[in-house]
Formats: sequence, C-alpha cells, structure tokens
Amino acid sequence: MITARAFAAKRYMVLGLARSGMAVAESLLESGADVTVWDRRGEPRRPLEGRATIADPLEIDLVGFDAIIVSPGVPLNTHPLTERAAKAGVPIIGDIELFALARSELPPHRVVGITGTNGKSTTTALVHHLLAEAGVPTRMGGNIGLPILAEDPLPEGGVYVLELSSYQIDLTRSLACEAAALINITPDHLDRYDGFAAYAFSKGRLLAMQGSGQFAVFGCADAPTSAVQQAETARRAPGRAVCVDLDAWSSHQSEWPSLQGPHNLQNAAIAAALVQELGLTHDQVLQGLASFGGLPHRMERIATSNGILFINDSKATNPASTAPALAAYAPADDGTPRIHWICGGLAKEDNLDDCAPFFGNVARAYTIGEAGVMFAEILEPNIPVDRCELMAEAVRRAVANARDGDVVMLSPACASFDQFRDYEVRGDTFRELVIELGCGGDRSTDGKPSEFNGRSAA
Ligand code: ADP
Repeated sequence: MITARAFAAKRYMVLGLARSGMAVAESLLESGADVTVWDRRGEPRRPLEGRATIADPLEIDLVGFDAIIVSPGVPLNTHPLTERAAKAGVPIIGDIELFALARSELPPHRVVGITGTNGKSTTTALVHHLLAEAGVPTRMGGNIGLPILAEDPLPEGGVYVLELSSYQIDLTRSLACEAAALINITPDHLDRYDGFAAYAFSKGRLLAMQGSGQFAVFGCADAPTSAVQQAETARRAPGRAVCVDLDAWSSHQSEWPSLQGPHNLQNAAIAAALVQELGLTHDQVLQGLASFGGLPHRMERIATSNGILFINDSKATNPASTAPALAAYAPADDGTPRIHWICGGLAKEDNLDDCAPFFGNVARAYTIGEAGVMFAEILEPNIPVDRCELMAEAVRRAVANARDGDVVMLSPACASFDQFRDYEVRGDTFRELVIELGCGGDRSTDGKPSEFNGRSAA
C-alpha cells in the first residue's frame, strides 16, 4: 500500500467505498489521518467501523476537512456535494491527487499518464508491457488494474503507468507526469460536461499539469487534440510536445498480432514514444510490441473456425471506436467485403458517420438492441442488414452467412446497458455464443484446427 507522512494528522472525508475509495480510506488510515467515510450502502462501510467516522457528507459540517476524496463515478456536475464543499472551502479531489501528493515520499521514480477518448487501456497496458519486458520495475493503475494507492511502492527507478479518464483528471490538481500522452478527443461522456469544449478542456488539463521540460506525445489525428498539442508546444521547451510519428513504426505493424488496425498503430507509436522518452531502445520497443498479448474485449481474437475469424470488440461503445475495427479488415483480393458486423445496443449518438468510410469492408450488418432499428435505417441504403434484436440471433445468422476468410465481429458502437450489465458481460456472452455454435472449440467440421482464446474479462 502507498502511504504518506503528508497525510498524518489531516482530516479527510472519503465518499464512495468501492475499490478505489476503500484503498483511499485504508491508505489514509495507515498514514495516520483522521478519516470520515460514507457510502450509501451499508455493507462497504462495515469493515471501516471503529477505525473511521461514518457520516454522510451531505449531513455534516464540512468546515475543517482538508479534502473530500470522491470516486470518479460521482457525477459532480449535478451532485449537491459540489456546492456544500465550495461553501465550506474544502477541495474535492480523487485518489490520483493523493498519489501525486505522496510522490515526494516514494523512492525516486517516474510517472507516465495516458488519456484520450479511446485507446487509453490498450496504450497503458502496452506501455506497462514494454517496460516490464525491458526489465524496468513498473506498475499500472488509475482506470485500469488495482487502485493505485493499494499498490506497493516501486523500488528506485520504477515507473508508474496511469490510465486517466477525464473524470479522474478533473479530480487531480498536481500530477506532473514525466511523460504523458493525449491519444484523441472525440465526443463522449457529454452528460457529465457542459458541452464538448468543456470535455476537451478536461482532457487537456493532464498536459497543462506538466512542467515545460516534461515530455508529451499527441495523436494529432483530430482537431481538438492538435489544438492542445499546439498550445503545449507554445509553452514548452523544443521537442517536448510532439505529434506521434506513425511512419516510423508502420512498416513493422504486421509483426504485432494483437495490435492490428490503424488505431492500434496510433496506440503503438504513442506507447513507443513514451517508453523511448524513458530510455528504452528501438529494439526493446520492437520486441515488446511483437510479444504484447492485447486486452480482452478490444479487437480480441477469440477463435478461428472453418477459416472464419471471430473478433470480440465489445469495448467499442461509440462509433468512433468501432470505426478503426471496421477499417482493420479490408475486402478479400477479389474485392468481396469480409466483415459480418454485429452492432447496436444503447446508442450514444444518433448517427454512424465515423464508421461510414469503412462500410465497404462490411459484408452484412446484424443489428441488435435499442439502437437496432436506427442503425438498420442508416445502414440499409449502403449494405445488407439483418435486423436481429438479440445477440444470440445475430451470432447465429452471422455464422450461417460467413465463409472461409470472413470475420465475424462484435463491435457495437453503443453502450451495453439496454441488454447487458456492462461491456464485459456483453463480450463474454458473445464468446459463449460462438462456443455454443461450435465455432470456438474443436468441433470445426473442415478438419482445420480451431484456436480459442479463453481469457476472462478480469
Ligand atoms: P479506453 O480505455 O480509452 O476506452 P481501449 O483501449 O479500451 O480504450 O479501447 C476501446 C475501444 O476504442 C476499442 O474497442 C477500439 O476499437 C477503440 N480504440 C482503441 N484505440 C483507439 C484509437 N487510438 N483511436 C480510436 N479508437 C480506438
């Protein structure tokens, strides 16, 4: 666990006792702080009874607290706590800010911070993998893996790799990363922001917290990201705020099985720039890119059966993140499109404009969920569509239509909550249906071996 003398004898309120909130409470208690905690459910409060004060921050006087630590899931734009805390003059922060405050007491180390609308987890896991393969002590935290304060401190020379959502950045004030990345900014999560500009500003703050000599790399494929890159270039030392160099790496992409598609070239080149800044060599980077295993639910190759490749891209919850998955599988040599595309769910946008340039790669679409009818209406003038409603029906029909060399891909371009608990359950359901239809195991009828990747979502 990461603790700090800086927290001793201070007073903190911790709101929300899920994984990161619980790690915060334990770290603050271990550091010797006076801690008050609250969760609207009784069960997570129980392990802290007797060690922390239990009280609802909406019912107690907040004057005198040094900070309120909330989980990034709390929608502060609408929550009454925001106004109460402001009146009492108490800052609201998150666990990443506590980590930033604890840094000066940790053995000398460096921090990599990664943000963007899409590609954060992949790039974070990749940077972590590249460092680990090169023998650098490293831990991964933030939006991915264990809560950062629950991790043990790294020895001298270690690198903490943090995936940071815009909500986490909003709760962070003083994290100056030695190397940071902004992958892209496209419309998402707008329910939590006062419009797109506010969301883009939030992402940009990760870079604004860095010093002028620190390094940042940017995707630069969309205008908002390029605008942040230009603003950062203006205030930094030369060469410290660069656009990613895709050309330097593109000729090697065929050697990276888990990093296919144009988006993964971007993620890989960004990860490469970050670790080269930290001292890895070109060869170390190439070796690590080739051995990266990928993450579940992100263009995950789950099986090949009868020459048909099954891809689980359930994490693609908006059209911008589905677009590169459609781009990754070009038509066959004779020009026949190969993708059997299962899409739909709970729509975040009322169009598929981001995906439209790649409709030519789609043999047939299978629409499901609440957005199914809308998607079918958008797609029908362009490509054949089966209106399926349920995932089981979509998989059944896709398997019936697909031929040797085709790709059956779940890449919904939607949130999952209309039919599934989360994108992970949706992806696991797809995987199970593929197996049930005999496409994931050894029941392949043509005698070709089937490969099956049975990783869990954990
Ligand atoms: P995040 O953690 O930001 O949600 P992930 O790495 O989990 O990102 O990827 C989520 C989805 O976004 C994937 O399904 C993939 O299709 C898409 N994606 C990944 N990287 C990029 C990128 N650089 N640009 C656009 N889309 C991407």
